[in-house]
Amino acid sequence: MIDLRSDTLTKPTPEMHAAMMAAEVGDDMFGEDPTVAALEKKAAYMFGMEAALYCASGTMTNQIGIRLHTTLQDEVICHKYSHIYLYESGGIMSNSGVSVRLLEGDQGRITAKDVKAAIQPDDIHSPVSRMVSLENTMNKGGGSCYDFDEILAIKKVCTENGLAFHLDGARLFNALVAKNQKAEDYGKAFDTISICLSKGLGAPVGSLLLGSADKIKRAKRVRKVMGGAWRQAGYIAAAGLYALENHIDRLAEDHKNAQTIADTLQGLDYVEEIYPCETNILIFRISDRYTNESFLAKLKEHGVLAFGFGPQLIRFVTHYDFTQDHLTDLLQVLKKL
Ligand SMILES: *Cc1c(COP(=O)(O)O)cnc(C)c1O
Repeated sequence: MIDLRSDTLTKPTPEMHAAMMAAEVGDDMFGEDPTVAALEKKAAYMFGMEAALYCASGTMTNQIGIRLHTTLQDEVICHKYSHIYLYESGGIMSNSGVSVRLLEGDQGRITAKDVKAAIQPDDIHSPVSRMVSLENTMNKGGGSCYDFDEILAIKKVCTENGLAFHLDGARLFNALVAKNQKAEDYGKAFDTISICLSKGLGAPVGSLLLGSADKIKRAKRVRKVMGGAWRQAGYIAAAGLYALENHIDRLAEDHKNAQTIADTLQGLDYVEEIYPCETNILIFRISDRYTNESFLAKLKEHGVLAFGFGPQLIRFVTHYDFTQDHLTDLLQVLKKL
């Protein structure tokens, strides 16, 4: 099967697997797992941030991030398509007791102007605007990326208004590679950053929350109450370390493959619209010749798996395990439908 449902589907490469099996481990709840410590140190260093915390998932790192910045009755400003709002089981409410102010915006991106206009007045009727959360790349926006100038403009609004600034960077490395941006610049702009090792980077498990030493110390306590403290997690942290060392630059191949697929779809009569394809996510709208169900069933008959991503919208995600042979076969299938 050619599996384009997600970039989370990759399995460890033989080299990554060997690194995992060779990991030195210890009880991380005692602070004694050297591989977890090395992973956290490396990630923090890459972003020029003081500290990092290794967690089971990006949902956990986002939810801890939100918890660190907020208290009951606060409000988080974010795009209406944000993962933190749509795809984290309402945790923003149950973990932190806060509400959301949802913004519109092009391909899932918000602007400094809209953030500024969304800040609540200092009035007992209103929730307290406390933080802004961005997503880069933006999953539901079709893997769209922010211009760094817009991020700096939003940062300025945050600073002027005492708002914390969090980044859901589940696929931040895709943005860094696609836009030729620097991790350290992101480290300077945001108070907390969540990055995933289990998406395009190809590790089987894990995300990191990056922030100041103080914030990460508190984050450890929040992770504990979520049941997320580890024992010998070095075996999986080793995969994350391997991914950070070896799998970042190759994301450009995934982007190129997604663009090639987009170019082919462009000429096909059942494709009505293709979202701008900036990274490894490709969203396109199909005509009423198909429903999502019939289109996905047809793809499956030809050995291709994908997801529906809204009415008449299909999502493809390219990744490590999607090979050049897969690409050739996929283009043939798409032309035949
Ligand atoms: C995958 C993802 C996450 C984290 O998801 P987990 O499955 O909990 O690791 C967060 N944000 C975005 C945009 C994602 O795509």
